Amino acid sequence: MSRTSLRNTLESLTRDGYDLVLEGVVNVEGGALAAATERFAECDQCDGQEFEKALYVTCKGCGRNPSNYFWIKSGDGDGLYATFSLRRLLEDNEVQTLGSVVIFDSDYEYSKPLMEQVIENGIPVWDIDLLVEFEDLESIDIGTLHTPNNYVQFSDSSWSIDANYAILGVFTGEDTESLHFKAFCDAPGEGNTQFPGIDAPHPRVLIGIDSRYADEYFGKSTMKIKSKETFMEWALTGMVASHVQPMLDIAVWYNYKMNEKQEKYFTAVSWLLQGILMGDDDCKEAFKGYTTTVEDASGGLSTRGLNSASNRLDEIGDLKKFLKNA
Ligand SMILES: [Zn+2]
Repeated sequence: MSRTSLRNTLESLTRDGYDLVLEGVVNVEGGALAAATERFAECDQCDGQEFEKALYVTCKGCGRNPSNYFWIKSGDGDGLYATFSLRRLLEDNEVQTLGSVVIFDSDYEYSKPLMEQVIENGIPVWDIDLLVEFEDLESIDIGTLHTPNNYVQFSDSSWSIDANYAILGVFTGEDTESLHFKAFCDAPGEGNTQFPGIDAPHPRVLIGIDSRYADEYFGKSTMKIKSKETFMEWALTGMVASHVQPMLDIAVWYNYKMNEKQEKYFTAVSWLLQGILMGDDDCKEAFKGYTTTVEDASGGLSTRGLNSASNRLDEIGDLKKFLKNA
């Protein structure tokens, strides 16, 4: 029986000239990551997860459903997870975006050198080879998210509008209508040497690919059904390291530094504003180097999902006054 390992996907992506472009890092503090193609307000009916159900939520209260939202345990649990777009440069210098990738390596030590490289040289691009250490992992099919707003947002699964997490909206391409997701996992009970002692298929790499090309890059077969059952059971009841050490301030600071080095000043400032609202002195200090209009600052806050703060700033109409009372 044929099974799909990440190796096949990596080979096809390399053959077609795709690269991994680091978009930033998200912090997971509650052991699970959510992918969503719209933003949801806090919902007391589902809280982003449904009782006794793994991955998917169908909620009348907030509108979460399997075509716009899923959540997945993030590897071993909490961490700062590097999030990428899959892109290539076409002959006419157009950039083609194929999808997005999140790597659930066990902790911050994986993401740190990647972030530091961008802060150093401003180049967020890696070869597909970056994923070669995961090439033996096998896929579990997650599902398809429709992308009417041309982005997929990755965040802690308990994020809702105004919640304080480092969230990333990753552009999915102008004419992409949906992304098909697979999670590449440690195979259960196969004596995985990289993460010994793990007997459920923990996801290590989450990949979403434009549905039009999903079969081409993923291949058609997935992990055997028994493994998917084990996975779903673990996704529901398995323990991961959660609420270990909050990483929000580190995520915000690194995302700021990476965007600054890439001269993405609007986004850089948006991270600084989030940091200032958290009471981070480094962000406060760094913000002094920028002149920002109320409009940009307000837009930045809403980019970070901090809609109430953005509205408050619009009402006050004065950035200094707003920050003084923040
Ligand atoms: Zn809900």
